[in-house]
Amino acid sequence: MYKDIATPVRTKEILEKYGFSFKKSLGQNFLIDPNILRNIVSHANLTENSGAIEVGPGIGALTEHLAREAKKVVSFEIDQRLLPVLEDTLSPYDNVKIVHSDILKADVAQVIEEEMPGIEDIMVVANLPYYVTTPILMKLLNDRLPIRGFVVMMQKEVADRITAKPGTKAYGSLSIAIQFYVTAEIAMVVPKTVFMPQPNVDSAVIRLIKHENPPVKVIDEDFLFEVSRASFAQRRKTILNNLQNGLVNGKQNKELILKALEEAGIEPSRRGETLSIQEFGKLADCLYPHFCVRQ
Ligand code: SAM
Repeated sequence: MYKDIATPVRTKEILEKYGFSFKKSLGQNFLIDPNILRNIVSHANLTENSGAIEVGPGIGALTEHLAREAKKVVSFEIDQRLLPVLEDTLSPYDNVKIVHSDILKADVAQVIEEEMPGIEDIMVVANLPYYVTTPILMKLLNDRLPIRGFVVMMQKEVADRITAKPGTKAYGSLSIAIQFYVTAEIAMVVPKTVFMPQPNVDSAVIRLIKHENPPVKVIDEDFLFEVSRASFAQRRKTILNNLQNGLVNGKQNKELILKALEEAGIEPSRRGETLSIQEFGKLADCLYPHFCVRQ
């Protein structure tokens, strides 16, 4: 077993050797605690037959822990300055492929096909760059990748919203957009002290496991997300009020909205935050014939 990259001493050595300076704009907060890394990886339940997709390897702190557990690791890094560093730090591992790319622009499905042939169990495991957490998750979910799920670190406030249940303050359209595809739970809350440099916000690791069957079947998924976004636009307002304001031609068509709410069995005086994902699904389908502009 090689010496961990993620000890504070070794990390400092590596950064000095390469004259590396952190770019805040790229969300560069590196992990410097091997215990946290082991803990993150354990939540992914990898085996020697698994594949791991990582976003943003940094200097390879998490990558090497993944390489020790999985058959193959593919890691996407946007910052070119890190490529020679990674070549050096990850040289003991022959099962890691670094792809120099913005994850948001990468054809991840194609990379999986090329780099992970025959691997059936694939997890995304990452300490995400916080400035693009939600776009990265939504992209990887919308790409319909052949993966089991995600174990990812992010800002705690976003983790709370993603995993929130109906009736709570954190519950909103992000909870619905994510929980439509996966079951979501917080795996652990992480102190600021395990990062270099320390971020200004608290962090948490969440685990997302893809549903075998979606919690609700709908005519048009994007329309479901539009309806849920409209319903949460002003949290203090009723669902009727928010839909009137948020749907195209909603203002002129109060009667049609009331009819759809009745069909879906939802009181017009309720607030969006009380509706389950199943209720949003039903409501979206009842509104669809009158308000979906893409039909
Ligand atoms: N995995 C390392 C660790 O835990 O120490 C670094 C994590 S750091 C929070 C985020 C990493 O993502 C950085 O290496 C950063 O350069 C990279 N990154 C930022 N935006 C990216 C993007 N759009 N695509 C790929 N990598 C990105």
